[in-house]
Parts: sequence; structure tokens; C-alpha cells
Amino acid sequence: MTSKEKIQSADLKTITVLHYPASQLRAIATPIEQVDADLIALAQKMFELMFEFKGVGLAASQVGVTVRMFCASPTFCPEDVHVYINPKIVSVEGSATEEEGCLSFPGIFTKVKRAQRVTITATGLDGNEFTQTVEGLHSRICLHENDHLDGLVLLDKMGAVAKLANRKAIKALEENTLSL
Ligand SMILES: [Zn+2]
Repeated sequence: MTSKEKIQSADLKTITVLHYPASQLRAIATPIEQVDADLIALAQKMFELMFEFKGVGLAASQVGVTVRMFCASPTFCPEDVHVYINPKIVSVEGSATEEEGCLSFPGIFTKVKRAQRVTITATGLDGNEFTQTVEGLHSRICLHENDHLDGLVLLDKMGAVAKLANRKAIKALEENTLSL
């Protein structure tokens, strides 16, 4: 399917945040060909869901639409929203280890080491390409969401000890989905 077909086949009335181990979370997302009304509507729906579920970032793969777009609000404020279409991490600098969660892994938190500062190029909802250097939480969100577009999830960032500490929650997620 092309990105346009994937976006058009999404029912915005029913899509919601998917939990691990949904197969879409493992997909390599498709580059987006054009910014149009359907894509803008999808981004708006993603912001709604992100705020509803109290997240500061959400990738399209997490709502089952495997195209290369994510949204972010590092301050969890509707006036501070960012959309990244076809993002590319240009460079990274420094490192920081912070506790991290994911809307697709409810109740699971783990310390993840990531770059402290990142320069990212993407297309915005206005169709224009931009380059941005961000740091701290904003940088962490960009790296976390960009991972989603490559089929990588929080579980892949967990060491053996963290997996052991979260084993009940991980098992519950796996069983819950399998029993649906
Ligand atoms: Zn996530």
C-alpha cells in the first residue's frame, strides 16, 4: 500500500492507540508522498489521542497507520505542538539517561540512554521542510518516536534487569492482546 492508501483507509472515528504486541508497532513505516487534507486530519486525530492518553509524543504507527509521521508536545500543552513528516535525524550530541514510558506500553517505565541534543530535518503540516535542533525531553521524544517509524519499541531499549523488573506488566500486555 502507498502512504496515501494507508492514510485514506484509516477510520479516524475508530482509530486509537495500539498496545504492544500489535504487529503495526514492528512495521517499517512508509515515507509520505504528499501533505494533503487526509494527512492533516490524521495528525489532528493523533494530537487528540496523545493528549487524551497523556503522552508527549505519538507516532502514526502507534495508531495503526504505518506512515512516517509523528507528533510531539514536550510541554504537554496544546499551544506547543510539533508535527514531523518524513523525519531524518541529521546529528546527535551528548547523552542523558532518563526514565521513559510509551503509550503503547502502559504502566511500563525504564531508564533509557539517548542523545541529549538532536538535529532533525522533516516536513511540516504546511508542506515545507525544516531543520530543528532540540535538546532534553524534546530531543528524547524525537528519538523515541523516530524509533517507532523503524519498528523499534521501548522493549528493545530495555536491558535484562529492566525486562525482569517489568516482566509482569509485559506478560499482561502480551496476554491481553492474544486473548482479544
Ligand atoms: Zn512510544
